[in-house]
Amino acid sequence: MRLSRYFLPTMKDTPGEAAIASHRLMLRAGMIRQSAAGIYSWLPLGLKVLRKIERIVREEQDLAGAHEVLMPTIQSADLWRESGRYDDYGDEMLRLTDRHGRDMLYGPTNEELITDIVRRELRSYKDLPKNLYHIQWKFRDERRPRFGVMRGREFLMKDAYSFDLTEESARHSYNAMFVAYLRTFARMGLKAIPMRADTGPIGGDLSHEFIILAETGESEVFYEKGFDAFDPLAAMPDYDGDLQPVVDCWTGLYAATDEIHDAAACPVAGDDLITGRGIEVGHIFFFGTKYSAPMGAVVQGPDGSQIPMQMGSYGVGVSRLAGAIIEANHDDNGIIWPVAVAPFDVGLINLRAGDAACTGAAEDLYADLRQAGFDVLYDDRDERAGTKFADMDLIGLPWQMAIGPRGLEKGVVELKNRRSGTREEIPRDGLVARLK
Ligand code: ATP
Ligand code: MG
Ligand code: MG
Ligand code: MG
Repeated sequence: MRLSRYFLPTMKDTPGEAAIASHRLMLRAGMIRQSAAGIYSWLPLGLKVLRKIERIVREEQDLAGAHEVLMPTIQSADLWRESGRYDDYGDEMLRLTDRHGRDMLYGPTNEELITDIVRRELRSYKDLPKNLYHIQWKFRDERRPRFGVMRGREFLMKDAYSFDLTEESARHSYNAMFVAYLRTFARMGLKAIPMRADTGPIGGDLSHEFIILAETGESEVFYEKGFDAFDPLAAMPDYDGDLQPVVDCWTGLYAATDEIHDAAACPVAGDDLITGRGIEVGHIFFFGTKYSAPMGAVVQGPDGSQIPMQMGSYGVGVSRLAGAIIEANHDDNGIIWPVAVAPFDVGLINLRAGDAACTGAAEDLYADLRQAGFDVLYDDRDERAGTKFADMDLIGLPWQMAIGPRGLEKGVVELKNRRSGTREEIPRDGLVARLK
């Protein structure tokens, strides 16, 4: 991508309305623009990151045996009256009326809608288990939308819903999502800790929140030392086998959010108990027949009886993750993208856009890198070198390459690693191989 033709409205100055680093940097790096309180447009750079996050989430859901669907954003209030949540949900629900006076709503979550789909199609215990997910915009009329996309009103969520015949089988579905979430966040370069959590308005009795540690997180958290020793990507999980040992390993260490942490009852204390703050990036629930019973989502059991399905739901804050990843990966100069979610692989800077030799060399390298399969952001603008370096640091691509008259004479290109800050002079011919 040639920067001269790209839509990348970067900002030098810190926007006044942004209170935390990720919000500031997403605005400054031209990733998002606010259109109303808690409602954002995603500009090209931001959208690339969002799509990469989405892809990792999708791949891990698919691996875990969930099937992608796409449900609408607008739902009928009648379904929510069946579950009893229409009145309970409160002011976070955006309620709408269509031209015929029918009550509608912009979905804040989809338990009712998916239960309605499944109860019409699944009739027999032989149809179970099933796990269906979608990645769709949600609306919650948050009292205090803030921190940019971290607490938006409109936000992108991956939500999965599992349907099982028995509680035991439902626990397996829960465990599969537990393990898939660990992998999902690890692939984005994040250390997420599963913490026992309150079930809130979703309801139910088994629940874990996945929390990224960060000073600016909105949740206060308490956890035992030792999570660093676990690596979710060390081995491929067997989703058809028994996942309980993996889950037990992670839940063997104490970890709870302030909503349920009780200092008096906590089994760990002293130096072993760490108190910190974190960002909730995922949340999984098992809630049995809370929706299937009132909504009549039943299947015929082996003995002919009608059995309400055992359900769970599993949410990932896809758009919130863009902010959370930046909270965990930035410095004073800007964002430092983990490779897996970086909007481009390499930033190529032509330090002398007016110089024919430099421009020729930069164009050649741009072509070679693309030929080798790299996604390159090529700064071909007629700007000062200082501005170009500052913009590259701000948008935080993993690698930066700079072509200038001095290097050209020596036949080298300067390669900088954004995370370590290390600069090396690499012979022009060895560059593509160096990145692989
Ligand atoms: P929070 O405690 O932050 O309000 P929640 O517990 O209400 O979140 P859930 O119902 O568990 O949210 O939704 C699943 C996931 O959706 C959350 O773990 C979070 O990552 C994301 N999410 C929830 N609300 C928002 C929001 N207002 N903006 C962005 N992401 C959100
Ligand atoms: Mg909430
Ligand atoms: Mg919460
Ligand atoms: Mg939650």
